[in-house]
Amino acid sequence: MAYSDETRNMYENTLQGIKDAGLFKMERYINSPQSAEILVEFPEGSPLKKVINICANNYLGLSSHPEVIKAAHEGLDSRGYGMSSVRFICGTQDIHKELEARITEFLGTEDTILFPSCMDANAGVFEAILTKDDVMISDRLVHASLIDGMRLCSAVQDTYKHNDMAHLEEKLKLHADKRQKLVICDGVFSMDGDTAKLDEMVALCDKYHAMILVDESHSSGFIGKTGRGTHEKYGVMGKIDIITTTFGKGLGGASGGCVSGRKELVEMCRQKARPYLFSNTIAPVVVAGVLKVMDLIMHNPERRNKLETNTAFWRKGLTEAGFVLKDGDTPIVPVMLFNAKLAQDFSRDLYNEGVYAIGFFFPVVPQSQARIRTQVSAGHEMHHLEEALAAFIKVGKKYNILGKTKQEIIEMYGM
Ligand SMILES: *Cc1c(COP(=O)(O)O)cnc(C)c1O
Repeated sequence: MAYSDETRNMYENTLQGIKDAGLFKMERYINSPQSAEILVEFPEGSPLKKVINICANNYLGLSSHPEVIKAAHEGLDSRGYGMSSVRFICGTQDIHKELEARITEFLGTEDTILFPSCMDANAGVFEAILTKDDVMISDRLVHASLIDGMRLCSAVQDTYKHNDMAHLEEKLKLHADKRQKLVICDGVFSMDGDTAKLDEMVALCDKYHAMILVDESHSSGFIGKTGRGTHEKYGVMGKIDIITTTFGKGLGGASGGCVSGRKELVEMCRQKARPYLFSNTIAPVVVAGVLKVMDLIMHNPERRNKLETNTAFWRKGLTEAGFVLKDGDTPIVPVMLFNAKLAQDFSRDLYNEGVYAIGFFFPVVPQSQARIRTQVSAGHEMHHLEEALAAFIKVGKKYNILGKTKQEIIEMYGM
């Protein structure tokens, strides 16, 4: 037997090692639709508990929106359940093309290609457009899926310090001899909730003849005046060569992603991107749902405006209560606790108070940067945020961290 006792032991020991290091991840089972309030079974076998969810990517509160659900039902009825084919064989419906056109219009780009997920978009885009004569220069805090996509590409890889424009310029000079230079960043960085300085980056890319790729997964639908994304916020719509984004977060939260940008680059993806060529695209029911999401937000900034109001309330409330936050103005609001165990204990106590928010610690964030990453939604009503804030303050008092500086918290609880 190939899967011998020795083999089993080896994996058991590895898993035990993960547990011993306090890094074992446990799923919590939600017995309700994704929403501002959810029914959770945790730990496994416990009675269901209704809690306020303040850590979902459900930024626009559309994951369980009645009109999106209705549109998905209609899509299911009119276009069926599955495609049983990849796009270029017999897996493209009219609604796939319709969604690509809507996304192009929304993002202000030239063309769009759908992928099964943004992870797949990022896995496919680099090797489709670059060769070993080119260079990819990425921010050091980009999302894991971008890192994996770059690994699949033969172009030279380099990085610049997070949001450090002088360092980026140095790297652009260093690679002046390459055929193409592609600069890569997240629009909103998922762990800290800060944004890329896209205006400065576009200026640098112009100066050094580089292209730019921005992953807008944590921005599409709500960053910028009308929710187009980080490029709208920084006044550089039409100047981003490639945008990748997901439909699994603000835009309905089901699944799917895309590459949107210069039409030749999108066409290169259609010809060469392997997750597009060799994997089914988004199921019709999801396409119909995302089309409805686009209807709801395309010319109506109401939901993103509500999210902005909610975010301002939440940041102000936590700041005035005396928590240490990461600076920023996006709906990602990290409450810094620095110590991994404190982050876990804090999360457990919040849960007992009826608030669902997960502790993040190494290796998801750097060592001694443990935190509770909170995420605000347009699906939150003021009373949800008020209740959640009261729970944070109660637990904050218990651990005596309100009004304390980073240094003081680390002195009390260690790194
Ligand atoms: C979530 C996320 C992805 C992955 O999106 P999926 O569509 O779920 O694969 C990619 N990039 C960034 C920056 C993300 O936050």
